[in-house]
Amino acid sequence: MGRGTNLPAVGGYNQTVILDLIRRSGDGASRVELAQQTGLSAQTISNISRRLLDSGMVREAGKSIVGPGKPRTILQLSPEGRYAVGVHLDPSVITFVLLGLEGQVVAHSRSRTPSDVRPADVVRRIASAVGALIESSGVPRDRIIGLGIASPGPIDRERGVVLDAPLLVGWKRVLLRDALLEATGLPVLLEKDVTAAAVAELWTTARRDRDNLVFFYYGTGFGVGIALNHEVVRGRSGNAGEAGHILTHTPPGRDAPACTCGRRGCVGTAIMPVHLVGEAIRAGVLAAPPGPLDAAAVDELFTHLARKAEAEGPARQILREAARAASDALVTVLNLLDVDTVVFGGPFWSRVSDVFLADIPRMLAKDPALLRVHPVTVTASSIGEDVAAVGAACLVLDNALSPRPSALLIST
Ligand SMILES: [Zn+2]
Repeated sequence: MGRGTNLPAVGGYNQTVILDLIRRSGDGASRVELAQQTGLSAQTISNISRRLLDSGMVREAGKSIVGPGKPRTILQLSPEGRYAVGVHLDPSVITFVLLGLEGQVVAHSRSRTPSDVRPADVVRRIASAVGALIESSGVPRDRIIGLGIASPGPIDRERGVVLDAPLLVGWKRVLLRDALLEATGLPVLLEKDVTAAAVAELWTTARRDRDNLVFFYYGTGFGVGIALNHEVVRGRSGNAGEAGHILTHTPPGRDAPACTCGRRGCVGTAIMPVHLVGEAIRAGVLAAPPGPLDAAAVDELFTHLARKAEAEGPARQILREAARAASDALVTVLNLLDVDTVVFGGPFWSRVSDVFLADIPRMLAKDPALLRVHPVTVTASSIGEDVAAVGAACLVLDNALSPRPSALLIST
């Protein structure tokens, strides 16, 4: 937690320090407490509080009586004070949420990603869906501070560019941030999908036992979002978390699928929904679709596969093999990062959750390669399929609410 400074030129920084303290306090904080915690003068605290109250970001919430002195007025974050839009672009589905200041979802919607994913068309669809979402929520537009978009990587986070998303055909160096800014009129932040999902887990749970986690993201592709010591890990370029080429062990007598990298046994390919559906068709578990095996067909057939896997049989066996590959890869990730929590989620997660949550803890427990220095909690995201969109919106709120030394440098 940074201390404040009384220099008038950095009023904006002090304001975010105060907002951040109020947000983290949970039940709210009094002006006296804020002065004590920041080292700012009573007059500075009073001025900033007035500005925050006037802007509607903070509200007065009753009085607290501490000792013999005058009762203190408690300042709390006002959940309806500001909002952020979160969008998650997955190759098969686009998710939209509107998030209030306390991280509460006030509206959400979902649509299938068009099979013709020309960037300009996708941007137009996103802009119109965002407009409809805001309209339906009844939230005044001037309370929306920005839009966060979670996209498959690799990305150039600083420039807001989707570089070459392998599963979005034709997406090479797409200037997504600027295109969305132009189409919606909102400031835009771009984040990699897996990182956004990890942000959502950190932001929406106050639990300190989740400071070191990996988010196992199961979408059209696979990756991990990483948080260490309550900070997400982005790496040099914002592309940390590419775990798809971790090699997994193939049982004797089985053929591992060939990966785009030329190897066999890469976890990303082994657990990819399109691969599992293809295997189920070849094994006669599912009927081949009448048309091409495109994203819509995979989505539908994957639901059938998961339903069949509720009972023992070949469908269950296909998902159990996927769980085994996932568990194999997790051992590498857990040993490498020394985290104690695995959170599962993503657009395809809920359909495999029963099988994965039954099998993976058991597989991890038996794996001789796993370093056993502390227990590891394996759990599903409580946010559900909106998680990456929620995380993208959290980033916008976080950007506005959290004090950073970089903001201090800019304002001076
Ligand atoms: Zn590979």
